[in-house]
Amino acid sequence: MLAALFLSTLFVGSASAQTSLYAQSIQTAIAARTPNLEVLVLDLRTHETLANTFHSESPIPVGSLLKPFLAAAYLKSHPAPTMVCHGKPDRCWKPLGHGSLTLSEAIAQSCNAYFLALAPNLPPADIPFLPPPPNVRPETLIGLTPDWRITPDALAQAYAALLTAPTPAPILDGMRNSARYGTANRTGLHPGGVLAKTGTAPCIDSHCKASGDGLVVVAVPAAHPTLLILVRKRATTGAMTAAAAGPILTQLETLHAQ
Ligand SMILES: [Zn+2]
Repeated sequence: MLAALFLSTLFVGSASAQTSLYAQSIQTAIAARTPNLEVLVLDLRTHETLANTFHSESPIPVGSLLKPFLAAAYLKSHPAPTMVCHGKPDRCWKPLGHGSLTLSEAIAQSCNAYFLALAPNLPPADIPFLPPPPNVRPETLIGLTPDWRITPDALAQAYAALLTAPTPAPILDGMRNSARYGTANRTGLHPGGVLAKTGTAPCIDSHCKASGDGLVVVAVPAAHPTLLILVRKRATTGAMTAAAAGPILTQLETLHAQ
């Protein structure tokens, strides 16, 4: 439904003029209702940015939003493994661990132990759509350190490329299940379901109120995504930012229904 609404709105009459008005209406609506959030809205059919309220286009740490790209790199030359997360001893955010995990479950739960185990086996050149910094450590590859920084626009475009290319099934399953019962489950229910990934990035400001900033990427509808939003909320977690992203999606659906 959302896809049809997008197309009908974007391509009636003068395409460029309509797109501009459409983007302006999204930008105005989001800026008015989400003053404490930074939001980027991308049309996955055209890769056009429809709205962007990020305060800066400077590169930012993105935490676990890197993990699906590591998964894509690993799957180029390996089958998806099953591993065991023991929690804190394995440097996972979940103190008691996730237990045995497949790759898709590791994406859904954003398991640090799983991706720290994968990272040493990843040639950085195999990571698609997001070139990592040189001499990168496993902790940086999975977003535990703030050293790999990406602009909001480049991150959204990388997700657009990942989700519009033939996307490996474990990545799609993991992002779908992240929204169903994983770290993005606070995104809520939306027609057609969603694909989502959360990240909690180390804060790099000099006056941080908390140790991290929350981020979430959400693409809808799940089967054939046509819209992607990237949301950042300062001084919180990715899971809590998913809760903030849910009403934004609902707001976009309402906007398109008018
Ligand atoms: Zn874990």
